Amino acid sequence: MLDYEEVPPRSGLLFSVRENAASTGPTAKTVADLAASSSMRDCLQWFVRERQWISDRHLQLCRIPAPTFFEQRRAEWMANEFRSLGCDAKLDRAGNVLATVDATSDGPYLAVTAHLDTVLAPRRDEEIVCGPDGKMSGPGVADNGAGLSALLAIAAAVKACPELEERLGNILFVANVGEEGEGNLSGMRYLCRQSPQAPKIHSFLVLDGPNVDHITTRALASRRFEIIYTGPGGHSWSDYGIANPVHALARAITIFSEQQSSFNHGSPRSSYNFGVMEGGTSINSIPTEARAKIDLRSESAAKLEDMVHLLAGCVERSLDVENERSVGRTAATRVAAKIREIGSRPGGELPDDSALLKTLRAVDSHLGIRAQVDCASTDANIPLSLGLPAMSIGAGGFGGGAHTPAEWFHPEGRHVGLQRIVLTLALAAAGGRALTTAATP
Ligand SMILES: [Zn+2]
Repeated sequence: MLDYEEVPPRSGLLFSVRENAASTGPTAKTVADLAASSSMRDCLQWFVRERQWISDRHLQLCRIPAPTFFEQRRAEWMANEFRSLGCDAKLDRAGNVLATVDATSDGPYLAVTAHLDTVLAPRRDEEIVCGPDGKMSGPGVADNGAGLSALLAIAAAVKACPELEERLGNILFVANVGEEGEGNLSGMRYLCRQSPQAPKIHSFLVLDGPNVDHITTRALASRRFEIIYTGPGGHSWSDYGIANPVHALARAITIFSEQQSSFNHGSPRSSYNFGVMEGGTSINSIPTEARAKIDLRSESAAKLEDMVHLLAGCVERSLDVENERSVGRTAATRVAAKIREIGSRPGGELPDDSALLKTLRAVDSHLGIRAQVDCASTDANIPLSLGLPAMSIGAGGFGGGAHTPAEWFHPEGRHVGLQRIVLTLALAAAGGRALTTAATP
């Protein structure tokens, strides 16, 4: 018997979320005019002038351990920082921090997000080090100290330039939980599907890590399953002949590997991995249980779906063969299997003609940034899978070694990354207002 656990669908939206694909996006002149306006000029300068303030916050937040599922202390610290800047900030039921520069704003929002959690966490303050040249090292300084400090820097810069507050009043700053590993994008999932704010958010700009060299517009989909075989078990000699869960599981893996490998080459790229396998209690007992965990990924949602179906088919086939061979073939001698979904990162894609992407491209050409679009698994997976405009970019500066103890971040040029974000937000937020006028009740 096979069964799947499904995720609930997103509730109805208050307005049409499909971007106007025919939108031409801002021109280079629009960006230049905005950047030259007195309030925006002050804001862009703020990032240059207040480099030390930004780096101080960056170090402080990285020193608060926040491994996935244990983000609360860092979340509370972030919320307090937003409040001390004069923002409205609260934690939602998932543990995400939500903040706005304008306490009265009620959307529609453009969300700028950064995940709170890290794969590795510091055990002592001294593990987060800052050298004389400003280079930081330690777990999480790039991924996602860069993104989180960018949220605070942008909120602080906007608060310092009151004329911008109205323009950016409907930016929702989100420091979310559950991006890494087994977190399975839980914070973003809650924000997009269950949060009272969900229907009010029209677009997402995800800040993940440093750099300005990439724009993730395609969401790499992945699904993870645990396969559990169960049977009556027995003595290896006296009960020989009853169906064996380990044999059935091994057969399923063999059939899947043989069939899947044949169509896993070329583009779109896909992968699979049986990463964990366990079961049985002793060499001379027929096991009562066998389990395996498999990770499936693909650049193509359709191909990923095919892989899931293939997996289900292979499990069914393995049961048939094992039960066919079992002596007596009664319920008492058969094995059964259950496939449990333990992780799912849905795929999706931001269309090339998306207004959000065009806006970022216009800002990039104004700032002289050349960025490549790519495909990766980020918090943007969730909104993209729901058809909402979203992309993930770095928050400036340089860095590397993510998810290792040798992680580092250098703030050189960070102000350019922050200027890029604030210009994009200011232009895309204006686009969002146009969206509401086309609202559907
Ligand atoms: Zn990250």
